[in-house]
Amino acid sequence: MTGRLTIVGLGPGDPRWLTPAASEALASATDLVGYAPYIARVPETPGQRRHASDNRVELDRARFALELAAKGHRVAVVSGGDPGVFAMAAAVFEALEGGDAAWRGLDIRVEPGITAMLAAAARVGAPLGGDFCAMSLSDNLKSWEVVEARLRAALHADFVVALYNPISHARPWQLGAALSIVAEARTPDTPIILARAVGRPDERIAILPLSEVEPSSADMSTIVIIGASTTRRIERGDGEAPFVYTPRSYRVSP
Ligand code: SAH
Repeated sequence: MTGRLTIVGLGPGDPRWLTPAASEALASATDLVGYAPYIARVPETPGQRRHASDNRVELDRARFALELAAKGHRVAVVSGGDPGVFAMAAAVFEALEGGDAAWRGLDIRVEPGITAMLAAAARVGAPLGGDFCAMSLSDNLKSWEVVEARLRAALHADFVVALYNPISHARPWQLGAALSIVAEARTPDTPIILARAVGRPDERIAILPLSEVEPSSADMSTIVIIGASTTRRIERGDGEAPFVYTPRSYRVSP
């Protein structure tokens, strides 16, 4: 088969955070497929077709992209951040696994992007300097019992935990419930980072002790990073935001 399908990570928002390889994959595509706000971030290339969709039916979008590629098109499926992190790459491979056997002969690649967790961490210092894990708080694709069990296990293991998809209109209570679970395992002064729209003009970053976090100050564009027991703040004074970091060594004295 001659068609090509590349699943491209656009990074969190700042165009300078798009890799040159991702830029090339976008510019050489005959067709772009993805959620409308992501497609809008891609510079126009003359003659390129844009297939913008809403954000719900990822698997249908993945099948559509595979069908286009099977017809010989050069397709770029776009995702915010990294396409392999809670995004389109898994949907494409799920569609591939369950779909037309001929699709397996396509040239299928993934172009990585900077995921939200890494961009947010870079803004505040080095909170992911020790062991960490990432979870999606969405219970659309898995049950809340699974989310809760994994969060408890991550806290028990003293990971720094990055929470993607913390809240939405359809899922208003989950972040509050998650923070209550965090409060059972961590001290009230544990640093929590709420990083919203990192790399976009409306970026907003807050570093708060666990006891002061209001779930309502997060939205769909926010990533929440929960410190481990070893995560600490470095105060800078003069109205400057503190740095937050997690030492790599457990021998650092407080
Ligand atoms: N593939 C994306 C994640 C998709 S899940 C990535 O790698 O970043 C969507 C969630 O990602 C959002 O609910 C939010 O938690 C997080 N997110 C995506 N872009 C973000 C940004 N610019 N700033 C902060 N969080 C972001």
